[in-house]
Amino acid sequence: MSMTLEEAIKFADHAVNMTDIPEVKEFYRMCASALRPISREQVEKVWSGCQMCEGWNTIELKPCANGDLGVRADIGSAGQADPFGLVVYKNLLASGYVDFQFCPFCGSPKTADAVQMVMERLEALHEIPPTT
Ligand SMILES: [Zn+2]
Repeated sequence: MSMTLEEAIKFADHAVNMTDIPEVKEFYRMCASALRPISREQVEKVWSGCQMCEGWNTIELKPCANGDLGVRADIGSAGQADPFGLVVYKNLLASGYVDFQFCPFCGSPKTADAVQMVMERLEALHEIPPTT
């Protein structure tokens, strides 16, 4: 007999009410929770971001052998519609930028595609049998 994932979740949810033993109830609750697909909200909660991905922040650049050439870098986003990225300034003039899907400091997903990518990676962990 085999069971689909949806059937297993339904079974675990139902089994919670089939016992009065608190530890067994908790076990079935944990089973149902572990079996449920990863949600967008869970991903956003786990990777809630760091101080470098909130607003705009200047990155403290370590000088190279050439010394300070007047290069500055800011990282962040100006708001919901503005992509998360890095802007490089030379003598206070913006001279280049790159957009990031993930914060390079904490790994927080910064786009809807990046959140989806994390959800798919976490779901894929269920597909791989554990090694013993
Ligand atoms: Zn971050």
